[in-house]
Amino acid sequence: MQLILVLNAGSSSVKFALINIQNGGQEHDLARGAFDGIGQTSRWSANRLDGLANKDITVKNGLASNHKEAVSHILSWIEINYGLASLTAAGHRVVHGGGNFIQPIRLDKQNVEALRKLVPLAPLHQPHNLAAIDSLNELAPTLPQIACFDTAFHATIPDVARHFALPRTITELGVKRYGFHGLSYSYIANELARYDAQLARGRVLVAHLGNGASLCAMRDGKSIATTMGFSALDGLMMGTRTGSIDPAVIFYLMRDQKMTAAEVEAMMYQKSGLLGVSGISNDMRKLREATGTHNSAREAIDMFTYRIIREAGAMIAIMGGIDALIFTAGIGENDTELRADVIKGLSYAGFSLDEVANNSKISKISSENGAVALVMPTNEEVMIARETAALISNEQK
Ligand code: AMP
Repeated sequence: MQLILVLNAGSSSVKFALINIQNGGQEHDLARGAFDGIGQTSRWSANRLDGLANKDITVKNGLASNHKEAVSHILSWIEINYGLASLTAAGHRVVHGGGNFIQPIRLDKQNVEALRKLVPLAPLHQPHNLAAIDSLNELAPTLPQIACFDTAFHATIPDVARHFALPRTITELGVKRYGFHGLSYSYIANELARYDAQLARGRVLVAHLGNGASLCAMRDGKSIATTMGFSALDGLMMGTRTGSIDPAVIFYLMRDQKMTAAEVEAMMYQKSGLLGVSGISNDMRKLREATGTHNSAREAIDMFTYRIIREAGAMIAIMGGIDALIFTAGIGENDTELRADVIKGLSYAGFSLDEVANNSKISKISSENGAVALVMPTNEEVMIARETAALISNEQK
């Protein structure tokens, strides 16, 4: 049995999960929790999912002023609920593995330094992942730490899909498509293989539609194309990110509107997408509620849907057709209207909607004949726990 602590650190939050992996490979989610609002008014939540009493500790508002305090609090909670000594290892979600890290790695000093060199490739995410790694290293130096990468699943993308039409010297600097959401795609590829092994070997398009959103085209369970690129800004419209736009917009904003690079970057990552277009929220539930009263909410949802259909068309073309489409993440798993609209938009590719299934909690939402559309909940934490446990087991062989 291996007890894995999974950490997923963002700019102002550290989410954690405790996952027990038994020798036969069965997984049990023992606990989930998060520290949100680090540096502002922080909120703490932790739930035991194993049915036993949650021994919580009182948290004052504003307790965690940085990632280290958040990690320290998570460790205290684990200590009183399970005992820190019971942990086998910690697995971190790390957004960028660059061109070299295409498998999970054990975090020693040298590897951590190599990950630090990748900060310029993911300046808004990688530093927070590293903050959690550094904190855990100080607070629990003997606990093995493993990095699991969001880019790694896309290592199989061929150069024709990976390279931009830039001079070779720039490509050689590492300016190319890496793709993200790989832990989610990897989990879905495994789930699909369990659900229908033959389908999983076919032409599969996975739509990870959450606050961040992307598509991944797979053949034989391997990524062959994805909409996110050099950064997690490319591709689909997202909660607060633009997705792909004409890059000349950036030159115009900097040169003629006198915005700085940092201002344009912040606008494109944090103030655009559903939030920017609607002027209301990045939360799809709130936008659905607002469609009756605000045209801008309808417009934002229509653009979001249109972009999925457009990009899906490109993916279907490069796969030479499609056998299965899978919806996952917050919007993909829950928004029945969005799924219905996307499936209607892809009817030319052989999809037709089973409306009853779409409105129930049923996985298969396409009707009997034609291409298969499925809803599958993603579970990046379980994927990280699996990868971490596997690496530790291999080391012990
Ligand atoms: P994630 O990043 O995967 O947590 O997904 C977050 C997104 O999922 C937000 O836009 C939420 O509004 C959206 N979401 C969650 N539940 C629902 C729901 N029942 N209907 C529509 N969107 C939802």
